[in-house]
Amino acid sequence: PLVLGIETSCDETGIGIVRGRTLLSNTIASSMDEHARYGGVVPEVAARAHLEALQPSIEAALTESGVALTDLDAVAVTSGPGLAGALMVGIGAAKALAVSLEKPLYAVNHLVGHIAADILDTDAPPLEYPTVALLVSGGHTSLLLVRDLTTDVELLGETMDDAAGEAFDKVARLLGLPYPGGPEIDRAAASGDQKAIPFPRGLSRASDMAAHRYDFSFSGLKTAVARWVELREAAGEPVPVGDVAASFREAVVDVLVTKALAACRDHGVPRLLLGGGVIANRRLRDVALERAEAEGVTVRIPPLSLCTDNGAMIAALTSELIMSGRAPSTLEFGADSTLPVTEIQVAESR
Ligand code: ATP
Ligand code: MG
Ligand code: FE
Repeated sequence: PLVLGIETSCDETGIGIVRGRTLLSNTIASSMDEHARYGGVVPEVAARAHLEALQPSIEAALTESGVALTDLDAVAVTSGPGLAGALMVGIGAAKALAVSLEKPLYAVNHLVGHIAADILDTDAPPLEYPTVALLVSGGHTSLLLVRDLTTDVELLGETMDDAAGEAFDKVARLLGLPYPGGPEIDRAAASGDQKAIPFPRGLSRASDMAAHRYDFSFSGLKTAVARWVELREAAGEPVPVGDVAASFREAVVDVLVTKALAACRDHGVPRLLLGGGVIANRRLRDVALERAEAEGVTVRIPPLSLCTDNGAMIAALTSELIMSGRAPSTLEFGADSTLPVTEIQVAESR
């Protein structure tokens, strides 16, 4: 099927067009620069930016793929989770498009979309089930067991407080580095020693592992970094930004990879899929690849343009739903900012 996907859950306006499992276009307009001076995504600013970017992005995606709107078999949209106001802009546009074109509409889950991005990776062999998936972004840190992308995604665990990307952003800010923090921390860490400071690994003690084996917590780590920096400053000593950045990054990476591999081991699943914007982190990819190989686990990492928020993954998930015979959604759905990952499609018609 030929599907156009619309993604507006956060600060990226993503329009993607896929035919079956083939990517035809992936247009991404980001309002990140507008949020930079606030140190994080401002919901109202994001929603307004989506309104402005949608129409030109749709036109660009159609031009790039050489597809006419009338050729489409379906329109797809993210209905959640994400920022309610931002989601509503995409949902409004998707409904208008589907109704005016008289095309079926599919309202789908953003997080499952991140997994579906993998299907568009032409360099990789087909996705095998079951697979463990680790999604790490500015808004999410989730560990999933995917038995089937279209029918069975189980939430094993998630962050109890900050998302991993959010932790990078907050620690960057307290080190005086600009937003978004991930790339900045990476740059600073290049000249630092990751073993310099033993920052805490959240929810990793034996007692925590019993109750929160697959859950994450990064706010304690952030506080630990803040306190360490404060003590240095109070003592009148210079803050070794490189060492702090490298040691902080190592603490995040260590706990992400440790828990993801624990999930693989516990479930007897020798496959791990990585997704989300934080996968841009080279150290995370390296540590995941190295430790997974030692445990006989195969790691899949889609190209970065498909890991960050985009419309192609929404179209890809919908293409899979259509190929597995699922009915379209009714128009009776809105934005669901806390849509659980188990709800792959919402408002399916019967
Ligand atoms: P959502 O949570 O809804 O999926 P998002 O827009 O918050 O969306 P992404 O766009 O997937 O998330 O990723 C952005 C996040 O990734 C930011 O928090 C940013 O700091 C982080 N990030 C980007 N590059 C790196 C990097 N090299 N290392 C660590 N984190 C990074
Ligand atoms: Mg983003
Ligand atoms: Fe996302």
